[in-house]
Amino acid sequence: MVSVKDVYELGEIPPLGTIPKQMYAQVIRRERFGAPKQAFQVEKVDTPAGLKPNEALVFVMAAGINYNNVWAALGSPVDVVKVHERDGDETGYHIGGSDASGIVYAVGSGVTNVKVGDEVVVHCGMWDEDDPFVKAGNDPMFSNSFQIWGYESNWGSFAQFTKVQAHQCLPKAPHLTWEEAAAPTLVGATAYRMLHGWPPNTVKEGDVVLVWGGSGGLGSMAIQIAREAGATPVAVVSSEDKFAFCEKLGAKGCINRKKFDHWGMLPHWTDEAAYGKWAEGARAFGKALWDVLGERRNPNIVFDHPGEDTVPTSIFVCETAGMVVICAGTSGFNAVVDLRYLWMRQKRFQGSHFANDEQAAAFNQLVLDGKIDPCLGATYSFDEIGQCHQLMYEGRQPLGVMAALVSAPREGLKDVP
Ligand code: NAP
Repeated sequence: MVSVKDVYELGEIPPLGTIPKQMYAQVIRRERFGAPKQAFQVEKVDTPAGLKPNEALVFVMAAGINYNNVWAALGSPVDVVKVHERDGDETGYHIGGSDASGIVYAVGSGVTNVKVGDEVVVHCGMWDEDDPFVKAGNDPMFSNSFQIWGYESNWGSFAQFTKVQAHQCLPKAPHLTWEEAAAPTLVGATAYRMLHGWPPNTVKEGDVVLVWGGSGGLGSMAIQIAREAGATPVAVVSSEDKFAFCEKLGAKGCINRKKFDHWGMLPHWTDEAAYGKWAEGARAFGKALWDVLGERRNPNIVFDHPGEDTVPTSIFVCETAGMVVICAGTSGFNAVVDLRYLWMRQKRFQGSHFANDEQAAAFNQLVLDGKIDPCLGATYSFDEIGQCHQLMYEGRQPLGVMAALVSAPREGLKDVP
């Protein structure tokens, strides 16, 4: 009989399919809300038990780091512990982490898509599969039950075991290390839906796509997805030393946003002097885009996530009948729009949020086919998870995406050691 310890040290691998009583986790508690470096702390907690028929327990080898758990650490704009309590979770804490690579250790009675021993990555979309809206075949991303695993739900990937809905599991690309595999799914699947999910404004061969934050998580994926569709991505970044990174991924060229100062909410249209100054900045930005392209073409899709600082410019430069697609408001939530550009040029301003199973699988297929570089910028230890969220919070993160080792004993492993 296989003996099971009560808890395994980080880097130790329990016999396949055996579940210890307890596990190590990076835990956020309400009394620690604030700067990520102090909000996260390693604790020993009970391993999640009692799988529902549609759930799986995944032994986490590595976890991807995303901006959402900066918000979780801050406790703002949403108190995630309160969200868990509302959903009947009595733990009083949050285990974040919305990207994982790992091994399936247990499955619920109704699971057919994965089995114990499968090496997987986990996408972060969860929903109530019994919701009549979902059962009727509608996009579960529009269901009221939709949640981001490891942010709105507890039991994310910053722990030795994570509890997920089995449909979230996708095959891990064998050519990637655990840490590379853990890095790109959240940002990549989000970028995939933004660029492919909103017909008729889906990315097509010959399109120009303007990508804000081209060297960040979302941006590095958007450049590559646009490139794979035969489009011409142009990246915006905050310093010239990021140009080469974006161009290597497929950007035709880059714009340094620090050369402009018309960011933020639009001045009121009745304030002619202030408005004129803003319009001058926006026109100069548009001209910089034409200079990169070598022709006077406007972007068919503008890929936005900074929000308040950038939306007025995104809408101004977007092509007639084009789309500004947005999934976040990192710089603020009040996106002020000059409606004249929106209606006269019949532009679309489209919100987008993560991805459904098909979109996550389509992105993962690009990864499996070796067409997407996961853009792993740096790998951290389990103990450094708070610190790498702090880097992100302060805008000092490395180019691309960060990951942390959880149970993988060292970097560079592609399989179980
Ligand atoms: P990231 O890796 O930190 O990259 C964001 C990039 O945005 C930065 O590299 C920065 O590049 C640029 N940026 C920051 N502030 C800016 C500003 N004021 N104006 C213009 N550009 C600015 O983060 P990420 O993973 O790409 O995520 C970005 C945002 O999207 C976060 O708020 C995140 O929570 C959200 N998000 C939402 C979803 C969803 O499903 N809704 C999914 C993923 C991420 P430069 O300084 O070089 O310009």
